[in-house]
Order: sequence, then structure tokens, then C-alpha cells
Amino acid sequence: MEPPTKGKRLILFPVPLEGHINPMLKLANLLYSKSFSITIIHTQFNSPNPSLHPHFTFQSIPDGLSETEASPKDIILLFSLFNTKCVQPFKECLSSLLSEEPVACLISDSIFHFTQSVAESFKLPRIVFETGSMTCYAVFTHFPLLREKGYLPVTQDSQPERAVKELPPLRIKDLPVIPKSDQEKHFELCVLIVTKIAASDGVIFNTFRDLEEQGLETLQKQYPNLTVFPIGPFHKCVPEEASSSTSDQSCISWLNTQAPNSVIYVSFGTIAAITKAQFLEIAWGLGNSNQPFLWVVRPGLVHGSNWLEPLPKGFLENLNGRGHIVKWAPQKEVLAHPSVGAFWTHNGWNSTLESVCEGVPMICLPCFSDQLVLARYVSKVWKIGLQFENEIERGEIEGTIRKLMEEKEGGEIRDRSMKLMEKANVCCRPGGSSYQCLDGLVEHILSFD
Ligand code: UDP
Repeated sequence: MEPPTKGKRLILFPVPLEGHINPMLKLANLLYSKSFSITIIHTQFNSPNPSLHPHFTFQSIPDGLSETEASPKDIILLFSLFNTKCVQPFKECLSSLLSEEPVACLISDSIFHFTQSVAESFKLPRIVFETGSMTCYAVFTHFPLLREKGYLPVTQDSQPERAVKELPPLRIKDLPVIPKSDQEKHFELCVLIVTKIAASDGVIFNTFRDLEEQGLETLQKQYPNLTVFPIGPFHKCVPEEASSSTSDQSCISWLNTQAPNSVIYVSFGTIAAITKAQFLEIAWGLGNSNQPFLWVVRPGLVHGSNWLEPLPKGFLENLNGRGHIVKWAPQKEVLAHPSVGAFWTHNGWNSTLESVCEGVPMICLPCFSDQLVLARYVSKVWKIGLQFENEIERGEIEGTIRKLMEEKEGGEIRDRSMKLMEKANVCCRPGGSSYQCLDGLVEHILSFD
């Protein structure tokens, strides 16, 4: 018997940044595994490589971004440009696709809030994919309240340690703001995203119920008419595809030479940047910790330098092979490697979830937005990591690494991480919460007919 989805086409529209495109492509694979046909509309900026996904149809639209505009340095500006410059090309592309064959629904990244009115104008159902965590999304839905109560905007005069009593255990310094950006514009963007999700036909999260039960309850209370689909972790629910970035495989052969559970894997994702002073403290902290480390230093990670220039001469050589630095790592493979004992992360949602899935305890150094909320949840709610609380400094780094790798508290954190990993693995299996919820999503899409 043919599956009921056979021949039904879905149009997916990812935001062209690594942390957004990759999960959207995984979502596409998940839906393809349910026999939907998939078309991906994408911008020219950071366009995905169609040859890696021959089973999907790709449609490129001009985004009109100049070379200077096409940069994640000012992320709020980039997102607002997407929401103005993509409107017309997206409309034209959608109109042409709809004239060719019926489409069951549009699945759009939440950042593209303009797609709600476009979908409505075509009477096309729109489901939103929110690439961040449900926990943080629930904080964004409280932004108007946080402003009313005086927690937002966060200014020089705000008391960073003050508890946000409406959203425990967050403090003012954990609120998902973007330092040095225009907070008013960020606020407006968040409110628009939340409003357009509330008006949509449902929202998908790359998460699982057991991890974010509290965020799910909050959302269901706030938006009783909105259908919420926690159907992740995607990378555990669908087989992996080739990565779009060139990974340095040398790290796997280096990891093969290290003792089990000994290596600190350090990576701050694809956008976050640090100062030269922070870079040096991290280097010395790792160097002095006596623990082996694998460190991803992305070109552009350190403000004002191309790559490793700020490192003191002979730094790596003096470690006698205890440190390995690469420009990019196959992160999921690294986290799954038996030698890796901790992940020092910026707590981007994908990285956090990947760490949870492999049971690797975290050391948290959040930089901005949702990372701040997640670091607090990792350390105080899920209790699967430790967070740096002050400006990072080599002595504190050494102490934190020792606590996690050698002390009793570290052992307890490791045990809890392993237990959460088991839950992450169960949810994708038949009968698991994400498995069932995906079936619910398929039924929901079929009900649009
Ligand atoms: N990533 C990777 N290798 C690296 C650095 C990052 O594969 O060397 C991947 C990582 O596995 C994750 C994504 O890039 O899936 C980063 O997403 P995240 O949400 O953690 O952070 P962002 O880059 O969006 O801040």
C-alpha cells in the first residue's frame, strides 16, 4: 500500500546560516523518510550544495544582499535585511512553484517572519521551524512582560545578578540579549517572530519532550491553539548525510591516540567571536590544565586576527602533543568519540543538543542570545555542566576543568549526562515521544487537504 503522503510536496525555506540550514536539511530528510517530496527554496547567499541532497529539488532566489551586508557580524541587521529583501523574490518563486503542482504546506525558518503573510496571501498553510530551544523560545514569548517589569532592556545600570523571578532560575545576565546590538530592534524582531508563530499552523522544534518538558508546558499554556511538535534530536532520528563544510579528519586520528574520557573538546560554533585577551586566557587555561584538548579555532574566531597569530611562539610544541588545534571538526563524530570527556561550548542550541545526545558534560561559555539561557539551564536545571560566571581567566579555567574531570561534583554531572543521553536515544525509537510526535506532524499536514 502506498503511504498517504506519497506525492505530497512540501516547500522548506531555511535561513542561510550553518546553525539553521543544517537542521532544516535534516528536517527535510525526516519528512522525506515519511515519503513527502521536498523542495528547498534558498537564498544565493550561503546556498546549500544540491549535489549532497539529490533527492530534493532546489530553487534559488536572489537575496539582493551586498557583500558587506551578507555577514553575520550584525545578526539583527542581517535578519531584518532578509525580511525585507527576500519578500518579492520569495513571492515570485512560490507563485511559480504553486502554478506547477499542488503543495501541502510551507515550512519556514521562524526568522523569516514575512512568510506568514505571504503564505496567507496564497492560502497556503505555514508551519514554522524554530531552530532554537523551546526553553529559550519560551523566554522570547515573555519579552513584552520582561520589558513591562523593567528587566529589559539590559543596560549598564541593570543588576546582572538580580533574579528574574517570573522565569526561574534566570538572572538578568542570563536573558537572551545580543550585547552591543540595537536592543530595541532585537526586541521588535523577537515580538514579530513570536506573533507570526502564534498565527501559523504549528511550530516544529529540534528537541525532545523529556529535555524541555517545562518549556513545552509554558508554550502550551500561553498558546493553547498552537500545535507544537518536538520531534528531535533530528540527527538521532534520521541517518546522517555528508557535511556541507570541510572537516579536518586529523582530529579523529588524534583522538584515537588519547585515553578514554580524557579530552576536552573546545568549540564556539560558527558565529561567536572572542577577544585576543580571552583567546590567550583559554590557551593558557587549557595548557595548564594538564588535560589533553582538541580546540576548533575557526578563522575569524578571534577579533582582529586571522587564525593562531596571537598564540605565544612554541605554545603547541611545548605541550608535546597534548593539544590539537583545527579550523573545523566533524563535531558529532568528535562528541561520540570515547576519548572525549567534556565539551567546552558556547551553548549554541545545536552544539548543546549534540552534547546531550552523546552524554558529554559541558563547560559553558555563552556569548549572546539563547546561549545565555542555555548555559544557565545546562548548569542549574539539567545539571549536566559547569558555567564560567566571571570574565574568563586561566586559573578559573584550570579549576573548572579539574572540578569536572577529577572531582566528585564532576562525576555526578557525568552520571546525569549519561542518563539524559539514554532518554535522547529512546525518544526517536518506535513508541518514543519524538517518534510519535512526528507521526502527529504527518497527520497534521495531511489534514490541510
Ligand atoms: N560544527 C561542526 N564543526 C565545528 C564547529 C561547529 O560540525 O568545528 C557544527 C556543530 O556540530 C553544530 C553547528 O556547527 O551543529 C553549530 O551550531 P550551533 O547552534 O551550536 O551554534 P552557532 O554556530 O549557530 O552559533
